[in-house]
Formats: sequence, C-alpha cells, structure tokens
Amino acid sequence: MEALQMTDTRPPFAGLNGQLPEILFGTLPTPCYILDEAALRCNGEMLAGIAARTGCKILLAQKAFSNYNLYPVLAPYLAGTEASGLYEARLGAEKMPGKEVHVFCAAYSDTEFSELLHYAKHIVFNSPGQLAKFGPVAREAGKSIGLRINPECSTQEGHAIYDPCAPGSRLGTTRTQWDANMTPELIALLDGLHFHTLCEQDADALEVTLHALGERFGDILPRMKWLNFGGGHHITRPGYDIPRLERCIRLAQQAWDVQVYLEPGEACALNAGYLATRVLDILQNGDTHIAILDASAACHMPDVLEMPYQPPLYGAETTGSSHCFRLGGPTCLAGDVIGDYSFPASLKENDLLLFGDMAIYTICKNNTFNGMPLPSIFVLREDGQLDCLRTFGYEDFKSRLGQ
Ligand SMILES: *Cc1c(COP(=O)(O)O)cnc(C)c1O
Repeated sequence: MEALQMTDTRPPFAGLNGQLPEILFGTLPTPCYILDEAALRCNGEMLAGIAARTGCKILLAQKAFSNYNLYPVLAPYLAGTEASGLYEARLGAEKMPGKEVHVFCAAYSDTEFSELLHYAKHIVFNSPGQLAKFGPVAREAGKSIGLRINPECSTQEGHAIYDPCAPGSRLGTTRTQWDANMTPELIALLDGLHFHTLCEQDADALEVTLHALGERFGDILPRMKWLNFGGGHHITRPGYDIPRLERCIRLAQQAWDVQVYLEPGEACALNAGYLATRVLDILQNGDTHIAILDASAACHMPDVLEMPYQPPLYGAETTGSSHCFRLGGPTCLAGDVIGDYSFPASLKENDLLLFGDMAIYTICKNNTFNGMPLPSIFVLREDGQLDCLRTFGYEDFKSRLGQ
C-alpha cells in the first residue's frame, strides 16, 4: 500500500501521454492555461488515502487553486474548502455544496464578518483582539471557532516572505501574546487551534513544528476539539514522506485528542495544469540569446517572480548549456523573465512552449498589468477531450478599471 502511494505522484507532463505539445495543443490560442483533470484526480486520491488511513480531514486551500468548474473532480476526496476571506468562503460554499467551509483571515471587517456567517462554519481568528470582537457573535451563530497560533518555529530558509514564524510576524498568536491577552472567557470561546507555518515542505518540518507546538501550547491543546495543521504540506510531490505525515497526524490525535485538519493548496493541484505560449521574437544581447513569449511571468505566473522559482518547461532543461535561451514576457518590466533554459535545438519564432505545474497560484493570481490579455482556460478531460472553459478579451481588462 505504502509503496504504491510513493510512486503514485504524476510528473509535470504526464497528461501529455507521450505526445508532443504541438500535436495536443497546437490549435489552441496562446497564451492559454490547460487544466489537467486526471492529475487533479490523482492528487485527490492520494489525499483521500491519507484521510481514510488516519481520520484527518483535508480541505482545499482555494487561494492556490479556485477553478471551481473542476471542484467536482476534487470534492469526492476532500472534506471541504478553506478560504482566505469572504469571497473564497462564498465560492467554497457555492461550488463545493454540502462540504465544510473554513476561513482564516488576518483581520475581518465588520461588513465582511456578518456576511461571512452565511458561508463559513469554521472561523479562525488571528489575534485575541479579533476573537474578542467577533467571537461572541460567531458563537451565537453556532460557528466552530479557532485561533491561529504562532509556534515560533521557523523551518524554512530561503523563502522569507513565506515564513509566518519570523520575528515580528503579524500572523498567529504567540504564547507570550496568549498569556497577556487570553482571558478565561476568551479561551472558553475556542473550539480549535490553527497553525500555518510551512511552505512546500516535507513531513520532517511538520514533525519539528509539532514538537514546538507541544512545548508552547501543550497545556491548551487537550482542551480543543480540533487542530488545523494549515497548508504547505507538499504531499503530492514525488518523494514526499507520507508515512511520516501520517505518524504526525496520529501523534497529535493521541497526544491531544483532537480532530486534525490539513488545508493544502499546492498539494491539491500540484502538476495539474500547463501554460502554453508561443515565441514572438528571438534576439541576442552579447552572449545572451533571448526569446520573447506571448506569456508574461509578471502577469500570468506571478509566483515565478514573487517566490521566486523557475517552472518546468516541456523538453527543456534549466541546467544544460546547449541552445540556451532566456525566456521573457512582452511587458515593460525588465525583470519579466521566466528563466534561462537549454533546448535540444535552437528556438525560432512561433515555436510552442509548454510550462508545467501551472494550475496553482497562477490563474487565481494573474493580472492585466501593461494591458496584457488574460490567457484562456482550457481543460484536458480524463477522456482526452479538450474543452474551453473561458476566454477573455478587452472588456475583462477594461471592466476592472471603471465604467
Ligand atoms: C496559503 C495557505 C494555505 C495553503 O498553502 P499551500 O502552500 O498552498 O499548501 C493554507 N492555509 C493558510 C492559512 C494559508 O495561508
């Protein structure tokens, strides 16, 4: 069983079934995203296996992936959705009907909060102040109430903007803040605790975090009904240590008698989409060969610049030295560069390039900077059929700017 899980992950381009991108996607308008239904299901099955074996509940963190037309593919494998605020909570309630809706936001506004009560069943607050302000209303409305805590345990270097445990962090309540602010009345409002401290990490980092959590909040946890482990668990990545994750879940269940939740975003839709783009121009500056694409890092894959990272590209390598090209977008931003790749042959105008792992933090995060068109969205169905989900035009750019 476990050997099977470990090999169950799909590499970024498995959906092509050995066919060339030009054969499969050559007729599509570029740039366009192509969501891979089979890959989503594969991820869903892995997550459902963990839930079934341990009794934990797994939620889709919608901020990573919110293409709701495909929620029906994931829904059978998940307990529900997690939201970053009102709109995502509403989307989860509408598009994964009958499933749990959880929400965490660093601070809720009055208007947002009253509407949120229609959609979310589990509401997580960031601070004792927000808990004091909204907790009694939430309790009255029959909600399950949580507080995000900060175990002050940084397990990542390199991605500082993704470290909520950094000194001075605004995310989560530290034990010092807890001791200074959590009155018995506030504690009595709580059903659960929530932490979110990982980013693309394996279960060893979770293990370390749970240890820190026990040291700082071990006296509180047995009084809670649930404990949410947040996201950042890179569960569906090849090589992720699933048995260790399951040991962590069981440890928390046994030590504190809590219902464990996980709310991965990335892991739900990892390697479940592509971005197809064509070469608009080839140029050379000194020794640097450059290809300008009709897709932009800044607009269509913003995490390439924000995180930053270099996405996989079909048929190309990030390390090789032959036929090297720097790939960039058509925008004015000097840094609108996706990265340097090496190819088996020289690139030329109109070549089709296919980036992998483009379902997460892309479509839900893109923008029209420079008036760039938004890529169309297609779906590669499990039977191989390609369906168009949406196209965009000038009105989509214009309508956000006025009327
Ligand atoms: C971002 C986030 C997630 C999902 O994180 P992934 O890295 O996509 O798994 C889950 N919960 C909270 C509170 C988050 O902020």
